[in-house]
Amino acid sequence: MKRLVVLGAGESGVGAAILAKAKGYDTFVSDMGEIKPHYAALLDQHGIRYESGKHTAELILNAGEVVKSPGIPDSAPMIRKLIEQGTPIISEIEFAARYTNAKMICITGSNGKTTTTSLIYDMLRRAGLDVGLAGNIGNSLALQVAQQDHKYYVIELSSFQLDNMYDFRADIAILLNITPDHLDRYDFEFQNYINAKMRITRNQRSEDAFIYWSGDPVIDREIHKLRPAATLYPFGEQNAQNVAFVKSSTLVVEAREPLELPVELLSLKGKHNQYNAMAASLAAQILRIKNDVIRESLTTFEGVEHRLQYVATVRGVRWINDSKATNVNSCWYALEAMTTPTVLILGGKDKGNDYSEIDELVLQKCHTLVFMGLHNEKLVEHFSALGYTPDGDKRYIDTHTLADAVQACYEAAKDGDTVLLSPCCASFDLFKSYEDRGEQFMAAVRNL
Ligand code: ADP
Repeated sequence: MKRLVVLGAGESGVGAAILAKAKGYDTFVSDMGEIKPHYAALLDQHGIRYESGKHTAELILNAGEVVKSPGIPDSAPMIRKLIEQGTPIISEIEFAARYTNAKMICITGSNGKTTTTSLIYDMLRRAGLDVGLAGNIGNSLALQVAQQDHKYYVIELSSFQLDNMYDFRADIAILLNITPDHLDRYDFEFQNYINAKMRITRNQRSEDAFIYWSGDPVIDREIHKLRPAATLYPFGEQNAQNVAFVKSSTLVVEAREPLELPVELLSLKGKHNQYNAMAASLAAQILRIKNDVIRESLTTFEGVEHRLQYVATVRGVRWINDSKATNVNSCWYALEAMTTPTVLILGGKDKGNDYSEIDELVLQKCHTLVFMGLHNEKLVEHFSALGYTPDGDKRYIDTHTLADAVQACYEAAKDGDTVLLSPCCASFDLFKSYEDRGEQFMAAVRNL
């Protein structure tokens, strides 16, 4: 019997193990950390052997194939050993895709993945298609394939998942943008991260679709280099090549019969969401979903939590939770969408950020910056050089807890201002996750 070892017992790992067991593999799961009780119970229920808090080499190195959780870096000692001895290491998506004939709609990019994935899922459901949501959101693809297979899957793919995909083929691939992120996992080489993202076009054929933002210089360059085989559907500014664009404040999408919709009717605001809407609508049109259904989704879809989420208005000040802005580029788009003077909360676990990308918008829109993190030195240094001081008109306030940060914003914001949590950083210094950061922020604001 072929042995399959799953490393990491989170949503994707447990799903992969359940599918592997159902397909007759000798299945073993190993997690260096504590396995959550809910997942341990699922493994027990399916009679799958596992270990928690350790990796036992004899039980892992004898695998015919390994499914690795996207959270485990290639530099982890056990992964190094597996690579050295030539054991194939694949992602859960790669494994699950072997056992389904569903059409795969896959979304990647540095920012906008979850929003666009959710929007496409909404369109397909409204159209009455049998569709599952997978990847970084919802149940794992493997679990759905094992238990309740669908005809279509809308899959959010991170660069880490793409790293371990080889034979997988997307019927529709979407690449929203590529800006530096996660460089700590890519030897601080931007090109390595770019190569991971471009893997979304791998194995595509001319009957498949590749939807991408043509305004991104990195994607543009890579397309000229790689010449993907899929049919191209570029979107962005209005020009001769783009099949979706905004023309005099109207969104136009013309992969099939043109759809036109005034941008003011889009339920998701901000320029970035116009791009997300273009990508999603192109995918839907390619799947022959009616323009009426697409229009209905674009005008009513409410968005996803922690992404430019309105929290409350307190004494004339609007508070916005954009906790999911874990890199500098997503903060840029959040600032771009601000229409009032802004107090910006920044900080957390820095992933090798270059803050100069937001300098101009910060100067234009933010009178106060509130730093919220264990280590704010890099922020202090960067924004001091930009002219922010502890007591000037352009001011920064250095805080180390959420309560202090919210209080500082409360005191600094004037009637008509917006307080924006869009931190540019991961949350792990003070919080469990970006969701935890967003929840705590919203609770603190509601208590003001
Ligand atoms: P991801 O899943 O890629 O992290 P999300 O949809 O969760 O993306 O959005 C994360 C943040 O990125 C949001 O808070 C928003 O401010 C910003 N964002 C969303 N869409 C885009 C886009 N197309 N381009 C740039 N930034 C975006």
